[in-house]
Amino acid sequence: MNHSKEIKDVFPNLPERIIGLGELSYNLWWSWHPAARMLFKMIDRPAWKESVHNPVRMLREIPRKILESAANNPDFLQHYDTLLSRFHNELKAKSCWFTENVAAAECLPVAYFSAEYGLHHSLPFYAGGLGFLAGDHLKECSDLGIPVTAVGFMYPEGYLRQKIRVDGWQEHADEVLDRDAAPIERVFNKEGQQLIVKVPFIDPPVHVAVWKVSVGNVPLYLMDTDIELNDPWNRLISARLYTGDIEQRLRQEIVLGIGGREILDTLGIRHSVLHLNEGHPAFALLEKVRERMEDGLSFEDAAGQVRATTVFTTHTPVPAGHDVFPFHLMDKYFSSYYPMLGLDRDAFLQMGIHPEKPAEGFNMTAFALRMSGYHNGVSKKHGEVARKMWQPLWPELKEEDVPIDSITNGIHVPTWIEPKMELLFNKYLGQDWLKDHDNPGIWKSVDDIPDKELWQAYIWVKIKLVNFIRERTRKRWVEDRTSPLNVVAGGTLLDPMTLTIGFARRFASYKRADLIFHDLERLKKLLNNRWRPLQIIFAGKAHPADDDGKRILQRIFNFADNPDFGGRIAFVENYDEQLAQYMVHGVDLWLNNPVPPMEASGTSGMKAALNGVPHLSILDGWWIEGYNGKNGWAFEGNGDKSDAESIYNLLEQKIIPLYYNLDDNGMPHNWVKIMKEAIKNTGAGFSARRMVKEYVAKFYHKALKSVV
Ligand SMILES: *Cc1c(COP(=O)(O)O)cnc(C)c1O
Repeated sequence: MNHSKEIKDVFPNLPERIIGLGELSYNLWWSWHPAARMLFKMIDRPAWKESVHNPVRMLREIPRKILESAANNPDFLQHYDTLLSRFHNELKAKSCWFTENVAAAECLPVAYFSAEYGLHHSLPFYAGGLGFLAGDHLKECSDLGIPVTAVGFMYPEGYLRQKIRVDGWQEHADEVLDRDAAPIERVFNKEGQQLIVKVPFIDPPVHVAVWKVSVGNVPLYLMDTDIELNDPWNRLISARLYTGDIEQRLRQEIVLGIGGREILDTLGIRHSVLHLNEGHPAFALLEKVRERMEDGLSFEDAAGQVRATTVFTTHTPVPAGHDVFPFHLMDKYFSSYYPMLGLDRDAFLQMGIHPEKPAEGFNMTAFALRMSGYHNGVSKKHGEVARKMWQPLWPELKEEDVPIDSITNGIHVPTWIEPKMELLFNKYLGQDWLKDHDNPGIWKSVDDIPDKELWQAYIWVKIKLVNFIRERTRKRWVEDRTSPLNVVAGGTLLDPMTLTIGFARRFASYKRADLIFHDLERLKKLLNNRWRPLQIIFAGKAHPADDDGKRILQRIFNFADNPDFGGRIAFVENYDEQLAQYMVHGVDLWLNNPVPPMEASGTSGMKAALNGVPHLSILDGWWIEGYNGKNGWAFEGNGDKSDAESIYNLLEQKIIPLYYNLDDNGMPHNWVKIMKEAIKNTGAGFSARRMVKEYVAKFYHKALKSVV
């Protein structure tokens, strides 16, 4: 939002002197710059809190008087002027990593397509790791100056707002996003109305309203089908992420891929590389091929060009993560499309067939793999697993020669670093550490942080977590009149001085959230040890259609309100980005125990480790690369019983004794040593910066040059 007239319409109370806050509030740049968040907080602390850290909402809701007093406060204005000039300079920077190292001349943007984006809790357009990876990717591309235009959905009903019944069963409350109070803007057409695009080749027609999120320099266009022009079924296409209805799911993916392409065309945005984040948006490839055929190319030549400029990232070996659409539905929606590609039905469907399961349907991953020139998994191990899984697509090749590479995921460091830790790093790693954070050399100075300072900062963060959980539980108690059992289970009895394990992730069965309850007596002894107690904080949502996941959740909830466990198990409702921030920063130990090799990468453990929270994890995903013997604990997967025993053994023999081994001043020096190793090993190697640079070096770079 650049036009001051629009800003004035949206924020009629905002004084001219600080009108720049309007533009700033609509660019998520503020979310990863603590000084920008501080600026909003300075205006009015309670209002900032009340808005759940959403400046658009805050600026709309607070009285003019308060804004005027900020506009007359010299101290505030000084911060304002400094920050706004930094904001404008960074966004307009001519010189950045990308222009200095990759492409000096202006080049066409990469088009990035994803079904979900995890950017901030005010935008509930994510379900889990896939979304946060996409969000962190965009933020990092903005930081590095890589030209990217992204496309996705606006889900007005988000994923789901979780509420746990007193018997532990997950329910959800319907909650519709207030579009006008979120950091998203309408995209306008020439007539000054919101741009509405008709998705081609779908009948009855589907129209999407176009919205934009500014992620630093990266525009993310979002499609919203909930508009009057659409019939009721079509209005619901973008209502929620990952609907269980297969036909609606197919229609979502048609809108995402084909509609997404149409939006870029309508906006006149040409792109170089197409990056597909998972198979959901892969229908975009069809449109690229079709458009080239309109220019006179044969299907083969057009497909060849499209392959040469497409990168596809596969994210999971879990079968439910790969959409397969039955042929009758493909016929229903695509039979008019087949001839446009010069293909008959068989040849078209062949593009999406799994050679070993040809009758199953049209497999989006198989299709994306066939139609893209570069493909990757998201950790070294996942690369191996994906090569094995998809070897049937390359029957003439040996498994190790299957052309699926790997680029290990990373996290956007400025987003996931706790502000207090950031200040500590500024002091000991140098003021410029963040600018150069993918340089492993920078992290050596973590050893220079005095143990006491690190530990004190950390304890402060941990207390903040406990307070945050109590506050959330209090709110539920007061506003929803929940049962006292919910209050206990929600974490009211947590103790900040106790060794605290965090386990927060989606409740998919393979993640085995309840593994630590395998031997109840042994666990109880650890929790209830009077001198060296243990507590565990759980959070996470089960997919609304996943009753197995809900049963696991219920089991844990029932332990949380069972007095035998001493109030030392907590289940915190409604895991979202905000709770994730508090948890990855403030627990002592991050636990991860999926069934290997199902965790393709995992990123929450990286977020924790960056902040000095060591990882206790099964050797799977990123931890196979991340574990170095000094920065946490690891065990091999060997079935539920053995894996649970590995966890108990490590806790009893190594972790608990180390944590409670205090010197005369109450300092656990040996524990702090592990915290430091965790930070040192994560900051550079598992940063989104390292990851994005790898995408540039391995693919973006090459494709940028081959663009016609
Ligand atoms: C990072 C993150 C995830 C992904 O965590 P995994 O370790 O990959 O399961 C999911 N949800 C939220 C809210 C996150 O911040």
